[in-house]
Amino acid sequence: MKGTVLIIGAGGVGSVAAHKCAMNPKVFKKIHLASRSITKPNAIKKDVKKRHGVNIQTHIVDADSIAEVVALIERTEPEVVINLALPYQDLSIMEACLKTGVHYIDTANYEPKDEARFEYAPQWAYRKKYEKRGIMAVLGAGFDPGVTNAYCALLLKRYFDTIRFVDIVDANAGSHGKSFATNFNPEINIREVTQEVKHFNKGKWIITPPIMDPKSIHFTFNYPVAGPRESYLLYHEEMESLAKNLPGLERMRFWMTFGENYLTHLRVMESIGISRIDPVMFEGRPIIPIQFLKALLPDPASLATNYHGKAVIGCIVTGRKSKKEFTKFIYSVSDHAKCFKEVGSQAVSYTAGVPPVCAAIMIMAGVWTGAGVFNVEELNPEPFLKSVAKNGLPYKIVDHKPLPAKIG
Ligand code: NDP
Repeated sequence: MKGTVLIIGAGGVGSVAAHKCAMNPKVFKKIHLASRSITKPNAIKKDVKKRHGVNIQTHIVDADSIAEVVALIERTEPEVVINLALPYQDLSIMEACLKTGVHYIDTANYEPKDEARFEYAPQWAYRKKYEKRGIMAVLGAGFDPGVTNAYCALLLKRYFDTIRFVDIVDANAGSHGKSFATNFNPEINIREVTQEVKHFNKGKWIITPPIMDPKSIHFTFNYPVAGPRESYLLYHEEMESLAKNLPGLERMRFWMTFGENYLTHLRVMESIGISRIDPVMFEGRPIIPIQFLKALLPDPASLATNYHGKAVIGCIVTGRKSKKEFTKFIYSVSDHAKCFKEVGSQAVSYTAGVPPVCAAIMIMAGVWTGAGVFNVEELNPEPFLKSVAKNGLPYKIVDHKPLPAKIG
């Protein structure tokens, strides 16, 4: 039904999305929020009512079950489903949207539970089916991936004929006062950052050691507002689609800041095996160590209360226009405490939760049209980034020096 949205997943990111939908009542007339138990959706419902005076409806769904998601979609009749559960559920929710003819948005690409490998291929495989059904799937519409993809598309549209180099930089310069915690789902986060690192160079993927390896590649980058921060080369999923969709791209790297304390914790977890994703026998039954670890670590949503400091994410892009080569840096700064004041969440959940709501606005307002499966850089970046800015994440574009070809 026009103006109805269904959000699946009621963690840190789902909570921000529910608040932001409630703050856009002209677009979102009915908001449904579902998760695998009712406690978190109901807590969010209460907070949304308190802050914005909006009633949202909550539901239980096991999003691993296509039949359950189909039944929920049939009951709630959304125009768009925003998937903010875990990457494991991407395919079942996409399949349910296909069966019911409803648009689909997510913020992280599919991962099989038993293998720490994330890639777009299984979701891109839906392209023809979505085209035939006349519906849209927008993949990776968080901040990174998501806004970073739109930043590249915007710079290409506004300044360049071709883009040669992209360096994505992501600094969380905030502090939550815990000895170790992750800023989004611990299981997904630890799987991501402990992987071998890849970057794109002259049509090939170059493999380098993971961030906690003594031979990892890192350098000090001077972030706007946050200042100099040690930034580590990391594989991040937006590189897979950008490498395909940016014409003439020669090199692309992704850099993220990590503190020495965080890396030490990761090394210890790896060495004692508590971050393993394969089952081990414990008291006669199999357990997955990383899932047990997740239960011990702070819930990322709970970090928000005492979080302070900034998060800065942006793209340094070198391109050519009429044979002239130059570099632009486009970035956004968010403030943990400010996000908490507005929606009760920390900045990492906020930066991931605002953009998918804006992507839903683009679809529901008929700004993004077309049928098929899209990554964000394939869609018009201007109205999307305008909406993202209006909803709390403005950007700035400055001239910049290109980062050196060889680092570390
Ligand atoms: P959380 O773990 O906090 O929340 C996930 C939510 O999904 C929880 O409510 C969880 O329920 C629910 N869930 C898990 N499995 C199922 C299932 N089978 N059926 C129904 N609901 C389920 O994660 P975050 O909010 O931190 O992250 C959400 C997503 O956002 C992740 O995919 C993450 O990768 C992505 N993300 C994207 C970013 C970007 O910039 N692109 C940045 C940060 C995150 P329960 O609590 O009961 O487990």
